[in-house]
Amino acid sequence: GIILDRIEKSFGATRVLGGVSLSFAAGEFVSLVGPSGCGKTTLLRIIAGLETADQGRVSIGGADVTGRRAADRDVAMVFQNYALYPHMTVEQNIALPLVMRRLRALERAPLLGRLVPGTDQRRQAILAEVREAARLLSIGHLMQRRPGQLSGGQRQRVALGRAIVRHPQAFLMDEPLSNLDAALRHDMRKELVELHRRVGVTTVYVTHDQAEAMTMSDRVAVMLGGKVLQFGTPREVYDQPATIDVAGFIGSPR
Ligand code: ATP
Repeated sequence: GIILDRIEKSFGATRVLGGVSLSFAAGEFVSLVGPSGCGKTTLLRIIAGLETADQGRVSIGGADVTGRRAADRDVAMVFQNYALYPHMTVEQNIALPLVMRRLRALERAPLLGRLVPGTDQRRQAILAEVREAARLLSIGHLMQRRPGQLSGGQRQRVALGRAIVRHPQAFLMDEPLSNLDAALRHDMRKELVELHRRVGVTTVYVTHDQAEAMTMSDRVAVMLGGKVLQFGTPREVYDQPATIDVAGFIGSPR
């Protein structure tokens, strides 16, 4: 799971997070919701190691990772702009994190190891991982295409595939569906929930869309002005909003 302990963050004179403490169970799907500017993205970036907290500690999968850079945290980020490599095939895009991991391992390996790189067996192992991810996402038939030849939903699946092959401790998603049209967004929500059920990875999902959060999540953290107003199951938040602000946000039309 993930433990956030009294996270504080300011940008200049602006206090963006005012002491956030949250604890997510392993395998849980948690959404961070709240109006624009409440600090959701900043909190997610602090979990990812893309931003440093001024105060507080972050622990992921039982390890205190405070101060570790993003590359040394076992998490995979999925953004709204998928950042696929246009000149690579779908297969190569999904394989990339595994190839990079292999290269990093080789860098650290003794000289002898470096002289005998990528055996065919390793290559086959990577391809098997890629095929398994593609199967989970129903994109097996697209492996030799390039991102330019894919629809928005297919591109989003490739981005998810690139996250899945790493088998990370956590998926961190920032409005991953916001670039899709309404119908596709609806389908992808269901797919994400199904995918989470099958892969079982702790997932932190940032959205300003409270309906999306309420339908997808095990628990929802409602944020306002850099604080968590309430953290509970969708049912709890909906039936017993902790404050007027929670009730206002959750009850408001989208
Ligand atoms: P949105 O839903 O609009 O993305 P959010 O809840 O994700 O909002 P954040 O992106 O975390 O909010 O931003 C919180 C506040 O911090 C905002 O007021 C924003 O302007 C400010 N902020 C975020 N990043 C920076 C930065 N790098 N420098 C200065 N201010 C920043």
